[in-house]
Amino acid sequence: MASRTILVADDNQQIRMLVTAALRSLGHEIVHAVDGENALEMAIAERPDLVLLDVTMPKLDGFEVLGFLRKRPETADVKVIMLTTAAQKTDLKHGAELGCDEYVTKPFDPKTLREVVVRVLED
Ligand SMILES: [Mg+2]
Repeated sequence: MASRTILVADDNQQIRMLVTAALRSLGHEIVHAVDGENALEMAIAERPDLVLLDVTMPKLDGFEVLGFLRKRPETADVKVIMLTTAAQKTDLKHGAELGCDEYVTKPFDPKTLREVVVRVLED
């Protein structure tokens, strides 16, 4: 697979680092966003192929970010994987309605995350 750009949007630095470490072997460029507003800015500036999107973030939550991404022509087609804690599983229907491609539950298994990322990028 050619190198892609993946945006990791999570307000928790440790999770950003864990996600980055889990995906490093795939060889893609990985960029970070630290809150919901920053996620939108980075999605527009970096034009990633895939966004890994935390749900609970300051400024804009992951669902709000997803809604904005889908509405803007330049980001409407970006792949989105929601990263959600198990307690937020009831929100997944909301994510599906807004057009997320997949979701991964935190805490995540690095191998599972890699597999989901590969599958979504190949779609
Ligand atoms: Mg969070």
